[in-house]
Amino acid sequence: MTYEIVRFYQGDHPQEVIATGLSLEDAKAHCNDPETSSRTATGAEAVARTEEHGPWFDGFRAEATDTEPCDECGAEIPADAPDMVNDAHDPSCSLYPTAGE
Ligand SMILES: [Zn+2]
Repeated sequence: MTYEIVRFYQGDHPQEVIATGLSLEDAKAHCNDPETSSRTATGAEAVARTEEHGPWFDGFRAEATDTEPCDECGAEIPADAPDMVNDAHDPSCSLYPTAGE
């Protein structure tokens, strides 16, 4: 599981993904930085952002994993993590990786 940092704006500005592929530890560390919220940031760049867009803050969320449906049962299988298939796939499906072994 990896995490992405999302900048949320209180106004009409759409949210922005500003970092991806982080560990949970790194994501939390980022969000604990005072410079990642308009309430606590004092840096010139952050202050300018607040003046332009209003209140904002950085949060994090788990990144969505690309999945592909199984040809047979339709289970969503992580496309880039074959070793996770056992968690996502119904063992009764004949295309289950360990079926027939
Ligand atoms: Zn299947």
